[in-house]
Amino acid sequence: MSEPTYVLAVDQGTTSTRAILFDHSGSVVAVDQREHEQIFPRAGWVEHDGHEVWENTRMVIGGALGKANVNRSAVAAVGITNQRETTIVWDRTTGQPIANAIVWQDTRTGRLVEELAGDEGPRRYADRTGLPLATYFAGPKVRWLLDNVEGARERAMAGDLLFGTMDSWVLWNLTGGADGGLHITDVTNASRTLLMDLQTLQWDSDLCEAIGVPMSMLPQIRSSSEVYGVCHPGILDGVPVAGILGDQQAATFGQGCLERGMAKNTYGTGNFMLLNTGTEIVPSENGLLTTVCYRLGDEPAVYALEGSIAVTGSLIQWLRDNLDIISAAPEVERLARSVDDNGGAYVVPAFSGLFAPYWRPDARGAIVGLTRFVNRGHIARAALESTAYQTHDVLEAMNADSGVALTELKVDGGMTANDTLMQFQADILGVDVIRPVVAETTALGAAYAAGLAVGYWSSTDDIRANWQEGKRWSPVMDGGDRDRLLRGWDKAVQRTLDWVD
Ligand code: ADP
Repeated sequence: MSEPTYVLAVDQGTTSTRAILFDHSGSVVAVDQREHEQIFPRAGWVEHDGHEVWENTRMVIGGALGKANVNRSAVAAVGITNQRETTIVWDRTTGQPIANAIVWQDTRTGRLVEELAGDEGPRRYADRTGLPLATYFAGPKVRWLLDNVEGARERAMAGDLLFGTMDSWVLWNLTGGADGGLHITDVTNASRTLLMDLQTLQWDSDLCEAIGVPMSMLPQIRSSSEVYGVCHPGILDGVPVAGILGDQQAATFGQGCLERGMAKNTYGTGNFMLLNTGTEIVPSENGLLTTVCYRLGDEPAVYALEGSIAVTGSLIQWLRDNLDIISAAPEVERLARSVDDNGGAYVVPAFSGLFAPYWRPDARGAIVGLTRFVNRGHIARAALESTAYQTHDVLEAMNADSGVALTELKVDGGMTANDTLMQFQADILGVDVIRPVVAETTALGAAYAAGLAVGYWSSTDDIRANWQEGKRWSPVMDGGDRDRLLRGWDKAVQRTLDWVD
Protein backbone atom coordinates (compact mmCIF):
# COMPACT_ATOMS: atom_id res chain seq x y z
CA MET A 1 0.00 0.00 0.00
CA SER A 2 1.36 3.42 -0.85
CA GLU A 3 1.87 5.95 1.89
CA PRO A 4 -1.15 8.23 2.58
CA THR A 5 -0.68 11.76 1.34
CA TYR A 6 -1.43 14.96 3.16
CA VAL A 7 -1.30 18.69 2.61
CA LEU A 8 0.91 20.75 4.91
CA ALA A 9 -0.19 24.20 6.06
CA VAL A 10 2.28 26.64 7.56
CA ASP A 11 0.42 29.18 9.70
CA GLN A 12 2.80 32.03 10.55
CA GLY A 13 0.61 33.75 13.17
CA THR A 14 1.07 36.77 15.42
CA THR A 15 1.94 34.85 18.57
CA SER A 16 3.14 31.56 17.14
CA THR A 17 3.97 29.60 14.04
CA ARG A 18 2.22 26.29 13.40
CA ALA A 19 2.64 23.52 10.88
CA ILE A 20 -0.39 21.29 10.41
CA LEU A 21 -0.80 18.21 8.22
CA PHE A 22 -4.34 17.72 6.92
CA ASP A 23 -5.83 14.66 5.29
CA HIS A 24 -8.37 14.55 2.50
CA SER A 25 -11.35 14.92 4.84
CA GLY A 26 -9.84 18.18 6.16
CA SER A 27 -8.99 16.55 9.51
CA VAL A 28 -5.84 17.41 11.42
CA VAL A 29 -3.26 14.60 11.27
CA ALA A 30 -0.41 16.31 13.15
CA VAL A 31 0.37 19.76 14.55
CA ASP A 32 3.51 21.39 15.79
CA GLN A 33 3.65 24.92 17.17
CA ARG A 34 6.20 27.39 18.51
CA GLU A 35 5.66 30.80 20.03
CA HIS A 36 7.97 33.66 19.16
CA GLU A 37 8.94 36.66 21.18
CA GLN A 38 6.75 39.77 21.17
CA ILE A 39 9.18 42.66 21.24
CA PHE A 40 7.87 45.97 22.63
CA PRO A 41 10.76 48.48 22.32
CA ARG A 42 8.54 51.48 23.12
CA ALA A 43 4.91 52.25 23.87
CA GLY A 44 2.91 51.48 20.73
CA TRP A 45 5.72 49.56 19.00
CA VAL A 46 5.44 45.80 18.36
CA GLU A 47 8.16 43.82 16.57
CA HIS A 48 9.08 40.25 15.65
CA ASP A 49 12.53 38.88 14.91
CA GLY A 50 12.48 37.59 11.31
CA HIS A 51 15.25 35.06 12.02
CA GLU A 52 13.34 33.60 14.94
CA VAL A 53 10.16 33.35 12.89
CA TRP A 54 11.92 31.53 10.04
CA GLU A 55 13.78 29.24 12.46
CA ASN A 56 10.47 28.39 14.17
CA THR A 57 8.88 27.74 10.78
CA ARG A 58 11.61 25.21 9.96
CA MET A 59 11.29 23.57 13.36
CA VAL A 60 7.51 23.18 13.28
CA ILE A 61 7.58 21.75 9.76
CA GLY A 62 10.04 19.11 10.99
CA GLY A 63 7.97 18.64 14.13
CA ALA A 64 4.70 18.03 12.30
CA LEU A 65 6.27 15.56 9.85
CA GLY A 66 7.94 13.81 12.80
CA LYS A 67 4.70 13.50 14.76
CA ALA A 68 2.94 12.00 11.74
CA ASN A 69 5.99 9.81 11.14
CA VAL A 70 6.17 10.72 7.47
CA ASN A 71 8.67 12.39 5.16
CA ARG A 72 8.28 14.75 2.21
CA SER A 73 6.98 12.02 -0.07
CA ALA A 74 3.74 12.10 1.95
CA VAL A 75 3.25 15.83 1.37
CA ALA A 76 1.29 16.68 -1.77
CA ALA A 77 1.72 20.43 -1.40
CA VAL A 78 2.45 23.23 1.06
CA GLY A 79 0.11 26.15 1.71
CA ILE A 80 1.15 29.28 3.59
CA THR A 81 -1.05 31.51 5.71
CA ASN A 82 0.21 34.40 7.75
CA GLN A 83 -0.40 37.28 10.11
CA ARG A 84 -1.19 40.00 7.63
CA GLU A 85 0.38 43.46 7.21
CA THR A 86 3.41 42.59 9.38
CA THR A 87 6.28 44.00 7.37
CA ILE A 88 9.81 42.80 6.87
CA VAL A 89 12.57 44.16 4.65
CA TRP A 90 15.65 42.11 3.90
CA ASP A 91 18.79 42.09 1.78
CA ARG A 92 18.35 39.95 -1.30
CA THR A 93 22.01 38.89 -1.36
CA THR A 94 22.63 38.07 2.30
CA GLY A 95 19.06 37.16 3.32
CA GLN A 96 19.49 39.36 6.42
CA PRO A 97 16.52 41.46 7.56
CA ILE A 98 17.53 45.11 7.92
CA ALA A 99 15.49 45.40 11.14
CA ASN A 100 12.91 43.50 13.14
CA ALA A 101 9.59 43.01 11.39
CA ILE A 102 7.06 45.74 12.23
CA VAL A 103 3.90 43.99 13.42
CA TRP A 104 0.41 44.92 12.25
CA GLN A 105 -0.55 46.24 15.72
CA ASP A 106 2.38 48.68 15.78
CA THR A 107 1.34 52.35 15.78
CA ARG A 108 4.68 54.04 15.00
CA THR A 109 3.43 55.20 11.59
CA GLY A 110 0.69 57.32 13.20
CA ARG A 111 2.17 60.67 12.20
CA LEU A 112 3.17 59.41 8.78
CA VAL A 113 -0.32 58.22 7.89
CA GLU A 114 -1.73 61.54 9.06
CA GLU A 115 0.66 63.36 6.73
CA LEU A 116 -0.24 61.02 3.89
CA ALA A 117 -3.95 61.66 4.51
CA GLY A 118 -3.40 65.42 4.27
CA ASP A 119 -6.48 67.57 3.78
CA GLU A 120 -8.37 64.77 2.05
CA GLY A 121 -8.46 62.68 5.22
CA PRO A 122 -7.97 58.98 5.91
CA ARG A 123 -10.14 57.82 3.00
CA ARG A 124 -7.86 59.52 0.46
CA TYR A 125 -6.92 56.23 -1.23
CA ALA A 126 -9.97 54.20 -0.20
CA ASP A 127 -11.50 54.10 -3.68
CA ARG A 128 -8.44 52.43 -5.10
CA THR A 129 -7.29 50.30 -2.17
CA GLY A 130 -10.47 49.63 -0.14
CA LEU A 131 -8.54 50.80 2.94
CA PRO A 132 -8.41 53.91 5.10
CA LEU A 133 -4.96 55.36 5.80
CA ALA A 134 -4.16 53.74 9.15
CA THR A 135 -1.13 52.47 11.03
CA TYR A 136 -2.39 48.92 10.47
CA PHE A 137 -1.30 48.56 6.84
CA ALA A 138 2.06 47.54 5.39
CA GLY A 139 3.03 50.28 2.89
CA PRO A 140 3.69 53.04 5.44
CA LYS A 141 5.63 50.54 7.60
CA VAL A 142 8.02 49.99 4.66
CA ARG A 143 8.37 53.73 4.26
CA TRP A 144 9.15 54.05 7.97
CA LEU A 145 11.94 51.46 7.69
CA LEU A 146 13.43 53.20 4.65
CA ASP A 147 13.31 56.56 6.45
CA ASN A 148 14.68 55.31 9.76
CA VAL A 149 17.16 52.48 9.16
CA GLU A 150 20.49 53.99 8.19
CA GLY A 151 21.34 53.57 4.52
CA ALA A 152 18.13 51.65 3.82
CA ARG A 153 16.71 54.00 1.21
CA GLU A 154 19.96 54.00 -0.79
CA ARG A 155 20.14 50.21 -0.64
CA ALA A 156 16.50 49.97 -1.71
CA MET A 157 17.07 52.36 -4.64
CA ALA A 158 20.05 50.23 -5.69
CA GLY A 159 17.72 47.22 -5.82
CA ASP A 160 19.38 45.41 -2.90
CA LEU A 161 16.38 45.21 -0.57
CA LEU A 162 13.19 43.18 -0.74
CA PHE A 163 9.92 43.87 1.06
CA GLY A 164 7.53 41.19 2.11
CA THR A 165 4.68 40.42 4.42
CA MET A 166 5.34 37.22 6.36
CA ASP A 167 4.02 34.98 3.57
CA SER A 168 6.73 36.33 1.25
CA TRP A 169 9.42 35.99 3.90
CA VAL A 170 8.48 32.35 4.58
CA LEU A 171 8.13 31.50 0.87
CA TRP A 172 11.45 33.14 -0.06
CA ASN A 173 13.22 31.15 2.65
CA LEU A 174 11.39 27.88 1.88
CA THR A 175 12.37 28.10 -1.78
CA GLY A 176 16.08 28.78 -1.37
CA GLY A 177 16.49 32.19 0.27
CA ALA A 178 19.48 34.12 -1.11
CA ASP A 179 20.10 31.13 -3.37
CA GLY A 180 17.16 31.60 -5.77
CA GLY A 181 14.27 32.11 -3.33
CA LEU A 182 10.97 33.18 -4.90
CA HIS A 183 9.83 36.72 -4.15
CA ILE A 184 6.06 36.39 -4.40
CA THR A 185 2.95 37.36 -2.47
CA ASP A 186 -0.71 36.62 -3.12
CA VAL A 187 -3.55 39.03 -3.88
CA THR A 188 -4.98 38.85 -0.37
CA ASN A 189 -1.76 39.91 1.31
CA ALA A 190 -1.05 42.52 -1.36
CA SER A 191 -4.50 44.01 -0.73
CA ARG A 192 -3.35 44.98 2.79
CA THR A 193 -0.44 47.20 1.79
CA LEU A 194 -2.21 50.37 0.53
CA LEU A 195 -0.07 49.86 -2.58
CA MET A 196 -2.31 47.59 -4.67
CA ASP A 197 -5.23 48.61 -6.86
CA LEU A 198 -8.23 46.44 -5.94
CA GLN A 199 -9.54 46.40 -9.52
CA THR A 200 -6.37 45.60 -11.46
CA LEU A 201 -4.83 43.50 -8.65
CA GLN A 202 -1.47 45.07 -9.51
CA TRP A 203 0.87 47.39 -7.64
CA ASP A 204 -0.15 50.98 -8.35
CA SER A 205 2.81 53.20 -9.27
CA ASP A 206 1.06 56.39 -8.06
CA LEU A 207 0.37 54.85 -4.67
CA CYS A 208 3.94 53.55 -4.38
CA GLU A 209 5.24 57.01 -5.24
CA ALA A 210 2.88 58.75 -2.80
CA ILE A 211 3.70 56.39 0.07
CA GLY A 212 7.40 56.33 -0.81
CA VAL A 213 8.06 52.67 -1.56
CA PRO A 214 10.32 51.83 -4.56
CA MET A 215 8.58 49.29 -6.79
CA SER A 216 11.82 47.29 -7.17
CA MET A 217 11.33 46.06 -3.57
CA LEU A 218 7.89 44.62 -4.15
CA PRO A 219 7.10 40.93 -4.58
CA GLN A 220 5.26 39.66 -7.62
CA ILE A 221 1.50 39.43 -6.98
CA ARG A 222 0.04 36.01 -7.78
CA SER A 223 -3.25 34.23 -7.15
CA SER A 224 -3.95 32.47 -3.83
CA SER A 225 -3.95 29.00 -5.36
CA GLU A 226 -1.36 27.97 -7.94
CA VAL A 227 2.03 26.26 -7.95
CA TYR A 228 4.53 29.04 -7.23
CA GLY A 229 7.57 26.77 -7.13
CA VAL A 230 9.09 24.02 -5.00
CA CYS A 231 10.77 23.94 -1.60
CA HIS A 232 14.55 23.82 -1.75
CA PRO A 233 16.67 22.60 0.02
CA GLY A 234 15.60 21.16 3.42
CA ILE A 235 13.24 18.41 4.49
CA LEU A 236 10.55 19.45 2.03
CA ASP A 237 12.96 19.56 -0.93
CA GLY A 238 10.97 19.30 -4.15
CA VAL A 239 7.49 19.68 -2.59
CA PRO A 240 5.39 22.32 -4.39
CA VAL A 241 4.27 25.44 -2.57
CA ALA A 242 0.83 26.02 -4.05
CA GLY A 243 -1.27 28.26 -1.82
CA ILE A 244 -0.95 31.61 -0.02
CA LEU A 245 -3.74 33.37 1.85
CA GLY A 246 -3.60 36.04 4.55
CA ASP A 247 -4.77 34.44 7.81
CA GLN A 248 -8.26 35.93 7.86
CA GLN A 249 -8.92 35.16 4.24
CA ALA A 250 -7.63 31.63 4.88
CA ALA A 251 -10.07 31.21 7.76
CA THR A 252 -12.91 32.46 5.55
CA PHE A 253 -11.92 29.89 2.92
CA GLY A 254 -11.43 27.15 5.53
CA GLN A 255 -14.89 27.91 6.95
CA GLY A 256 -16.32 27.26 3.50
CA CYS A 257 -17.62 30.85 3.13
CA LEU A 258 -17.49 30.45 -0.63
CA GLU A 259 -20.80 32.08 -1.50
CA ARG A 260 -21.64 35.76 -1.54
CA GLY A 261 -23.31 36.65 1.77
CA MET A 262 -21.45 34.09 3.91
CA ALA A 263 -19.39 35.39 6.84
CA LYS A 264 -17.06 34.18 9.58
CA ASN A 265 -15.54 35.75 12.68
CA THR A 266 -12.12 34.69 13.98
CA TYR A 267 -11.24 35.23 17.66
CA GLY A 268 -7.44 35.30 17.96
CA THR A 269 -5.00 38.01 19.03
CA GLY A 270 -7.51 40.37 17.45
CA ASN A 271 -10.90 39.64 15.87
CA PHE A 272 -11.65 39.67 12.18
CA MET A 273 -15.05 39.31 10.59
CA LEU A 274 -15.13 38.77 6.84
CA LEU A 275 -18.18 38.74 4.60
CA ASN A 276 -17.81 37.25 1.12
CA THR A 277 -19.19 39.79 -1.41
CA GLY A 278 -18.52 37.65 -4.48
CA THR A 279 -16.78 39.23 -7.48
CA GLU A 280 -18.16 42.64 -6.56
CA ILE A 281 -16.03 45.30 -4.85
CA VAL A 282 -18.34 46.76 -2.18
CA PRO A 283 -17.11 50.07 -0.75
CA SER A 284 -17.83 50.55 2.94
CA GLU A 285 -19.74 53.49 4.33
CA ASN A 286 -19.56 52.20 7.88
CA GLY A 287 -15.90 51.82 8.75
CA LEU A 288 -15.18 48.42 7.23
CA LEU A 289 -12.39 47.48 4.85
CA THR A 290 -12.84 46.23 1.31
CA THR A 291 -10.32 43.51 0.63
CA VAL A 292 -9.56 40.55 -1.61
CA CYS A 293 -11.07 37.37 -0.14
CA TYR A 294 -9.25 34.93 -2.46
CA ARG A 295 -8.41 34.27 -6.07
CA LEU A 296 -8.11 30.71 -7.32
CA GLY A 297 -5.70 30.50 -10.27
CA ASP A 298 -7.07 32.36 -13.28
CA GLU A 299 -10.61 32.65 -11.92
CA PRO A 300 -11.92 36.14 -11.13
CA ALA A 301 -11.00 37.46 -7.69
CA VAL A 302 -13.58 37.17 -4.92
CA TYR A 303 -13.80 40.16 -2.59
CA ALA A 304 -14.84 40.65 1.04
CA LEU A 305 -15.92 43.29 3.50
CA GLU A 306 -13.89 43.07 6.67
CA GLY A 307 -14.28 44.33 10.22
CA SER A 308 -10.89 44.23 11.95
CA ILE A 309 -10.61 44.57 15.74
CA ALA A 310 -7.07 45.05 17.00
CA VAL A 311 -7.35 43.73 20.55
CA THR A 312 -9.42 40.77 21.74
CA GLY A 313 -7.35 37.69 22.72
CA SER A 314 -4.34 39.91 23.36
CA LEU A 315 -6.35 41.60 26.14
CA ILE A 316 -6.45 38.20 27.85
CA GLN A 317 -2.66 37.97 27.42
CA TRP A 318 -2.43 41.41 28.99
CA LEU A 319 -4.47 40.22 32.03
CA ARG A 320 -1.96 37.38 32.29
CA ASP A 321 1.32 39.21 31.56
CA ASN A 322 0.74 42.78 32.74
CA LEU A 323 -1.90 42.51 35.51
CA ASP A 324 -0.99 39.00 36.63
CA ILE A 325 -4.57 38.16 37.57
CA ILE A 326 -4.51 34.86 35.65
CA SER A 327 -1.62 32.54 34.90
CA ALA A 328 -2.95 31.14 31.62
CA ALA A 329 -5.56 32.34 29.11
CA PRO A 330 -8.19 29.62 29.82
CA GLU A 331 -8.27 30.69 33.51
CA VAL A 332 -10.05 33.87 32.55
CA GLU A 333 -13.24 31.87 32.16
CA ARG A 334 -13.21 30.55 35.72
CA LEU A 335 -12.46 34.02 37.07
CA ALA A 336 -15.24 35.57 34.97
CA ARG A 337 -17.68 32.95 36.23
CA SER A 338 -16.84 33.77 39.85
CA VAL A 339 -19.18 36.77 39.48
CA ASP A 340 -22.75 37.11 38.17
CA ASP A 341 -22.11 39.97 35.77
CA ASN A 342 -19.65 42.77 34.99
CA GLY A 343 -20.61 44.70 38.15
CA GLY A 344 -20.98 47.84 36.01
CA ALA A 345 -17.38 47.73 34.74
CA TYR A 346 -16.29 47.97 31.09
CA VAL A 347 -12.83 47.47 29.61
CA VAL A 348 -12.18 49.19 26.28
CA PRO A 349 -8.90 47.71 24.99
CA ALA A 350 -7.92 50.55 22.65
CA PHE A 351 -4.22 49.67 23.01
CA SER A 352 -3.55 50.33 19.30
CA GLY A 353 -6.25 52.97 18.99
CA LEU A 354 -9.58 51.59 17.84
CA PHE A 355 -9.87 49.78 14.52
CA ALA A 356 -13.23 48.96 12.87
CA PRO A 357 -15.69 50.49 12.78
CA TYR A 358 -14.16 53.53 14.51
CA TRP A 359 -10.65 53.88 13.03
CA ARG A 360 -9.52 56.17 15.83
CA PRO A 361 -5.73 56.09 16.29
CA ASP A 362 -6.17 58.72 19.02
CA ALA A 363 -8.07 56.36 21.32
CA ARG A 364 -6.34 54.64 24.24
CA GLY A 365 -7.60 51.94 26.56
CA ALA A 366 -9.80 52.50 29.60
CA ILE A 367 -11.48 50.63 32.44
CA VAL A 368 -14.60 52.55 33.41
CA GLY A 369 -17.64 52.18 35.66
CA LEU A 370 -15.50 51.31 38.69
CA THR A 371 -16.96 51.30 42.19
CA ARG A 372 -15.65 49.84 45.47
CA PHE A 373 -17.73 46.75 44.61
CA VAL A 374 -15.73 45.78 41.50
CA ASN A 375 -13.22 42.95 41.94
CA ARG A 376 -10.86 40.98 39.69
CA GLY A 377 -13.69 38.69 38.64
CA HIS A 378 -15.62 41.67 37.28
CA ILE A 379 -12.52 42.93 35.46
CA ALA A 380 -11.98 39.49 33.91
CA ARG A 381 -15.61 39.39 32.89
CA ALA A 382 -15.54 42.92 31.47
CA ALA A 383 -12.40 42.02 29.53
CA LEU A 384 -14.10 39.00 27.97
CA GLU A 385 -17.26 40.97 27.28
CA SER A 386 -15.28 43.63 25.40
CA THR A 387 -14.63 41.08 22.65
CA ALA A 388 -18.34 40.45 22.25
CA TYR A 389 -19.26 44.17 22.23
CA GLN A 390 -16.59 45.01 19.67
CA THR A 391 -17.89 42.17 17.50
CA HIS A 392 -21.40 43.57 17.87
CA ASP A 393 -20.25 46.97 16.57
CA VAL A 394 -18.61 45.33 13.55
CA LEU A 395 -21.64 43.17 12.79
CA GLU A 396 -23.89 46.24 12.81
CA ALA A 397 -21.57 47.92 10.30
CA MET A 398 -21.54 44.76 8.19
CA ASN A 399 -25.34 44.60 8.13
CA ALA A 400 -25.55 48.30 7.20
CA ASP A 401 -22.97 48.03 4.38
CA SER A 402 -24.33 44.84 2.87
CA GLY A 403 -28.01 45.68 3.35
CA VAL A 404 -28.75 42.19 4.71
CA ALA A 405 -28.82 41.14 8.34
CA LEU A 406 -26.71 38.09 9.08
CA THR A 407 -28.80 35.37 10.67
CA GLU A 408 -25.98 33.33 12.14
CA LEU A 409 -22.25 33.68 12.63
CA LYS A 410 -19.58 31.04 11.95
CA VAL A 411 -16.71 31.40 14.40
CA ASP A 412 -13.19 30.03 14.95
CA GLY A 413 -9.90 30.91 16.68
CA GLY A 414 -8.34 30.43 20.11
CA MET A 415 -10.93 32.36 22.11
CA THR A 416 -13.83 30.22 20.85
CA ALA A 417 -12.67 27.63 23.40
CA ASN A 418 -14.28 29.98 25.93
CA ASP A 419 -17.86 28.83 26.38
CA THR A 420 -18.84 31.80 28.56
CA LEU A 421 -17.68 34.24 25.90
CA MET A 422 -19.42 32.38 23.07
CA GLN A 423 -22.73 32.29 24.96
CA PHE A 424 -22.40 35.98 25.77
CA GLN A 425 -21.60 36.65 22.11
CA ALA A 426 -24.80 34.93 20.96
CA ASP A 427 -26.73 36.91 23.59
CA ILE A 428 -25.27 40.27 22.57
CA LEU A 429 -25.72 39.66 18.85
CA GLY A 430 -29.11 38.01 19.10
CA VAL A 431 -28.09 35.39 16.50
CA ASP A 432 -26.75 31.83 16.67
CA VAL A 433 -22.98 31.42 16.92
CA ILE A 434 -21.61 28.24 15.31
CA ARG A 435 -18.17 26.63 15.57
CA PRO A 436 -17.15 23.92 13.08
CA VAL A 437 -15.69 20.55 14.12
CA VAL A 438 -12.27 21.53 12.71
CA ALA A 439 -11.52 24.77 14.54
CA GLU A 440 -8.11 25.13 12.79
CA THR A 441 -9.82 26.91 9.91
CA THR A 442 -6.94 29.28 9.15
CA ALA A 443 -4.46 26.53 8.46
CA LEU A 444 -7.16 24.48 6.78
CA GLY A 445 -7.92 27.32 4.36
CA ALA A 446 -4.26 27.50 3.32
CA ALA A 447 -4.20 23.72 2.92
CA TYR A 448 -7.30 23.87 0.72
CA ALA A 449 -5.77 26.58 -1.47
CA ALA A 450 -2.61 24.51 -1.97
CA GLY A 451 -4.43 21.19 -2.34
CA LEU A 452 -6.79 22.56 -4.98
CA ALA A 453 -3.86 23.80 -7.06
CA VAL A 454 -2.24 20.35 -7.23
CA GLY A 455 -5.48 18.39 -7.65
CA TYR A 456 -5.41 16.88 -4.13
CA TRP A 457 -8.94 18.26 -3.79
CA SER A 458 -10.75 18.35 -7.09
CA SER A 459 -13.00 21.37 -6.55
CA THR A 460 -14.41 23.70 -3.93
CA ASP A 461 -17.31 21.21 -3.57
CA ASP A 462 -14.88 19.11 -1.50
CA ILE A 463 -14.49 22.07 0.88
CA ARG A 464 -18.24 22.48 1.23
CA ALA A 465 -18.64 18.75 1.86
CA ASN A 466 -15.93 18.71 4.55
CA TRP A 467 -17.44 21.51 6.70
CA GLN A 468 -19.29 20.15 9.74
CA GLU A 469 -21.03 21.93 12.58
CA GLY A 470 -19.32 21.29 15.92
CA LYS A 471 -21.06 23.47 18.49
CA ARG A 472 -23.88 26.04 18.44
CA TRP A 473 -24.73 28.76 20.97
CA SER A 474 -28.19 30.36 20.78
CA PRO A 475 -29.25 33.65 22.38
CA VAL A 476 -31.09 33.42 25.72
CA MET A 477 -30.57 36.91 27.18
CA ASP A 478 -33.49 39.22 27.80
CA GLY A 479 -33.58 42.10 25.29
CA GLY A 480 -33.68 44.74 28.04
CA ASP A 481 -30.46 43.42 29.60
CA ARG A 482 -28.81 43.36 26.23
CA ASP A 483 -29.72 46.99 25.48
CA ARG A 484 -28.53 48.14 28.90
CA LEU A 485 -25.15 46.43 28.44
CA LEU A 486 -24.72 47.89 24.94
CA ARG A 487 -25.55 51.38 26.21
CA GLY A 488 -22.87 50.98 28.88
CA TRP A 489 -20.39 49.84 26.26
CA ASP A 490 -21.15 52.82 23.98
CA LYS A 491 -20.55 55.24 26.82
CA ALA A 492 -17.30 53.48 27.70
CA VAL A 493 -16.04 53.73 24.09
CA GLN A 494 -16.76 57.47 24.04
CA ARG A 495 -14.49 57.90 27.09
CA THR A 496 -11.48 56.48 25.18
CA LEU A 497 -11.60 58.82 22.16
CA ASP A 498 -9.47 61.96 21.75
CA TRP A 499 -6.96 60.66 24.28
CA VAL A 500 -3.76 61.15 22.28
CA ASP A 501 -3.05 64.79 21.42
P1 ADP B 1 -3.42 33.94 16.77
O1 ADP B 1 -3.65 33.03 15.60
O2 ADP B 1 -3.85 35.36 16.56
O3 ADP B 1 -2.03 33.84 17.34
P2 ADP B 1 -5.13 32.07 18.30
O4 ADP B 1 -6.31 31.77 17.44
O5 ADP B 1 -4.11 31.01 18.52
O6 ADP B 1 -4.44 33.45 17.93
O7 ADP B 1 -5.75 32.49 19.72
C1 ADP B 1 -4.90 32.85 20.75
C2 ADP B 1 -5.55 33.95 21.56
O8 ADP B 1 -6.72 33.43 22.22
C3 ADP B 1 -4.63 34.47 22.62
O9 ADP B 1 -4.61 35.88 22.52
C4 ADP B 1 -5.24 34.03 23.95
O10 ADP B 1 -5.13 35.04 24.91
C5 ADP B 1 -6.68 33.77 23.60
N1 ADP B 1 -7.25 32.61 24.32
C6 ADP B 1 -6.84 31.33 24.27
N2 ADP B 1 -7.62 30.53 25.06
C7 ADP B 1 -8.55 31.34 25.61
C8 ADP B 1 -9.66 31.14 26.50
N3 ADP B 1 -9.98 29.93 26.97
N4 ADP B 1 -10.38 32.23 26.84
C9 ADP B 1 -10.10 33.46 26.35
N5 ADP B 1 -9.09 33.69 25.51
C10 ADP B 1 -8.32 32.67 25.15
